[in-house]
Amino acid sequence: MIIAMSAGAAQADIAAVTDVISEAGLNAVVLPGGDRVAIGIASAIPHDMREPLAERLSSLPAVDHVTHVSRPYKLASREFHSADTVIEHKGVTIGAGEVVIFAGPCAVESPEQMAAAAKAVKAGGARVMRGGAFKPRTSPYSFQGLGEEGVRLLVEAARAEGLLTICEVLDENDVGLCEEIDFLQIGARNMQNYRLLTAAGKTGKPVLLKRGPSATIDEWLLSAEYILCQDNPNVILCERGMHPIDRTYTRYTLDVSAVPVAKHLSHLPVFIDPSHAAGDWKYVSALARAGVAAGADGLIIEVHPDPAHARCDGPQALKPEVFMRLAREVQRIAGAVRSPGYG
Ligand code: PEP
Ligand code: MN
Repeated sequence: MIIAMSAGAAQADIAAVTDVISEAGLNAVVLPGGDRVAIGIASAIPHDMREPLAERLSSLPAVDHVTHVSRPYKLASREFHSADTVIEHKGVTIGAGEVVIFAGPCAVESPEQMAAAAKAVKAGGARVMRGGAFKPRTSPYSFQGLGEEGVRLLVEAARAEGLLTICEVLDENDVGLCEEIDFLQIGARNMQNYRLLTAAGKTGKPVLLKRGPSATIDEWLLSAEYILCQDNPNVILCERGMHPIDRTYTRYTLDVSAVPVAKHLSHLPVFIDPSHAAGDWKYVSALARAGVAAGADGLIIEVHPDPAHARCDGPQALKPEVFMRLAREVQRIAGAVRSPGYG
């Protein structure tokens, strides 16, 4: 932590700052500048002391501003865990160099839809099948998902093809209903639902954590921290688009830069969701390619056997043949950008 004093701060003001630091059992170092003095803290600050100490110091006379040197998140940060996290779950390995694809419809609708979708995503090389049973819809009058029955249909269809499953949970009750599900998904709307993050973390299952459309990267990583601090190291970060300036052609704006930034700051694997970012199937493949070229560890993609009749997010769903082409393309891109001489 660095405390920058205002120009012309008195000796007594500087002493007041160093006294507070010493009283906290920490070591203050005064760094004289041209017309300003900065004070550094040259010892490790216990994590729970960080915010209260910064607030106390900021309120002292002649303190201009207080800057944190280390990140506010600890378990999610590379500062404390330099090696990439590799998630190994029921035969699927994430974060070890291979691009892993999660795919399936936005919502579980029927056994027939799920069986056709499972065959399609399996044929494209997906390892994990998605399907929303609890849908967070903008309107309360829109289809809300099949609930428990949806979970059952997802598990049945995926198992028939040897795929694992991922399902979004909206509250703690849903977490309980997803016992048979392999990966839990926390959606963009719930990124800061801290009780839900904690409940999902407690299951020990891998959790795919979407970034909220208005969330900063630090807020996203602090949300990941809620899961990690439940002794659950299996968090996948997922960028799915930010609030756009122009909604005319795309639903959100994919923040491709979030991939290298999150991977620089954190050791956690990073996925891209090109479907919700684009909102239009025509642009999904291009965004998926961009995400993989930027270093994403995997993709979560909406695929529907009959998008025109989908009950949710039909316009962005890929038909099986488009998904097959995309899956081939991204593996070629991954091979190219991970070959020697790149990156
Ligand atoms: C979804 O995956 O279907 C979904 C609702 O996504 P998001 O939380 O990114 O909007
Ligand atoms: Mn969707």
